[in-house]
Parts: sequence; structure tokens; C-alpha cells
Amino acid sequence: MDKVLNFMSFRRFSLIFASMLFALAVAIFPAKSESEKLKIVATTGMIADAASRIGGDLVEVTALMGPGVDPHSYRQTRSDIVAMTRADLVLWHGLYLEAQMEEFLGKLSKTRKVVAVAETLPETLLIGHDDYEDKKDPHIWMDPELWSKVMPAISVALTSVQPESEAVFTANAEQFQKELDELADYGQQALSTVQPESRFLVTAHDAFNYFGLAHDFEVIGIQGISTESEAGINRMSELVDLLVDRQVGAVFVESSVSDRNIRALIEGAAARGHEVKIGGELFSDAMGVPGSYEGTYLGMLDHNFTTITSALGGDVPAKGMSGMLSPES
Ligand SMILES: [Zn+2]
Repeated sequence: MDKVLNFMSFRRFSLIFASMLFALAVAIFPAKSESEKLKIVATTGMIADAASRIGGDLVEVTALMGPGVDPHSYRQTRSDIVAMTRADLVLWHGLYLEAQMEEFLGKLSKTRKVVAVAETLPETLLIGHDDYEDKKDPHIWMDPELWSKVMPAISVALTSVQPESEAVFTANAEQFQKELDELADYGQQALSTVQPESRFLVTAHDAFNYFGLAHDFEVIGIQGISTESEAGINRMSELVDLLVDRQVGAVFVESSVSDRNIRALIEGAAARGHEVKIGGELFSDAMGVPGSYEGTYLGMLDHNFTTITSALGGDVPAKGMSGMLSPES
């Protein structure tokens, strides 16, 4: 009996000892929790999406600008400042896209790791603009092939704050690159079905110049490359003339810019006896709702390619590249 008791107490002791060891091990080598992930703050959704894809499980990414937010006029909030000062890495676009945040980000870069990802591209790949002699057009995400050239800079930035994960970041970036290539192929294929005389894209502001260059479209934004400038009456009547003369059948509204000017154009053309329809809403400077397909970079561009092709008479699957576009989008 004693032997049994001794045996029982020995087992009990072993169990307690083992669980103490386990507790100690957990304390020393805890599983990766949320708090241990690299904290990345990105200004736009497009940069946040890229950082999430390349960082994978090792990062926790916060995007400061959600759906419908205009980066040209966005100014950092108090909670943005807190998030940025606590981040391991802050990624922003640059090229004067975040015009109201440049000063803050410049100061922040003295104490934190801050990278302007679009400014890593060689200038030869960038489009200039009449309105701003010394500045380049920042809307490079509108061409997936060009946007993909920014990915190495994001990979390098992540590696600089966590060198031991370089292999993971590189592998994730390679996988994402394949998907960006497929997206670019889809865009080329879809838009090539739009007749040359219909390759005319009229939108609220000049966000689509890289799109135009990649797909041989003439692109007109009512406002300039920044939404900060207002369209004058002369500009509006010039554009109405253009719609009537060129018999443009569709114009597009943007998710992050007021549709006021686009509607004025349609009314102006109607007064001249030319009917123009709204071809759809395009994502220009912000992605769709987080958690939805359109809330990813791939979904955002798939939506734009599919909407433009379809509205201008081209041939494209109704639900887009991978059948994932929502019907109302
Ligand atoms: Zn813009």
C-alpha cells in the first residue's frame, strides 16, 4: 500500500514538476503573440496591402487612410501620431502624395525608421506634370507593373528592422510578384478589347496617367494630379466641348473624390444634346472596404480594369479576373 502511495505521490510530484518546467519554458519561449509582431504603419491602403503580403504572419500592419480617404488632403490625427511613434517601421508613399503629412514625416524620420517607398523608383519611370514643374505624378499604383517595382523597397525596409526574417520576406514578395504579374496580364488583355476610338478616360482628378501610358488611353482628369486644385469654369466648358466633339459615351466617378464636377460635365454635355453616362465608380487613391476583395490591391485594380473595359464597350468577364468582384461594385 505504501509503495502504491509513494508511487502516486512520486507521479504527482513529477506532474507538478513537469508543469512548472512547462510554465518556465512558456515564459522564456512564448509563442508569437500579436504584441511581438513587427508593428508597421502605412499611410495608404495600397502600401499597407503590400506590407501585409510581404510581411505575412510576422507583421501587424495599420493603414492610416481607409476607404474613400483622399491622401492629397489628409492630415495625421492624434491617434495616427501615437501609432507612428510606436511603430517599428513607417511606410509612406512620397512624391508629394501625402502633401499635408510631409513635414510631420520628415521630423519623425529623425527618430524612427521611415521610408518613402515610391521615391525609390528611378525618375525615368515617372511622369511629370504641367501643373508642377519640379514634381512627379505620384499615382504609380495605377499600373501594376510599375507598382511591383516598389516591392523590393518594402522588402528591404522590413528586413532592415528584422534581418533574421529576410528569407520569409523574400519568399512572400516572390509570391506576391506572381500575382501582380497575373493582374497586369489581365489588365492588358481586358483593355486591349476596347476599340481605339473609345480609349478615352475622363475622371474627377488626374490619377490615371500611368494607366493611360500602360494601356494607350487618352486620360483627362477634371482636377489636376492633386485634388487641392479647383477646376475653373473655362476648364469645364473645354471638357464639355471635348466630350461632345469626341462623342465620349462614359465618364467615371472616383471613390475618394467628390462627383460634383463629373455630374456638371454630364449636364453640360446634355445641354448640348450629347448623352454621357457614368461608366462606374473607380478606386483612384484609396481601396475598397477592408475585408472585401475590393479592399485589396488586386481587387481594387481588377475592379478598375473590369469597370473601364465594360463601360467603354470592351470584352471582359462581369466578375473580373478571378470571379471575385462584387456585383454592385
Ligand atoms: Zn490623386
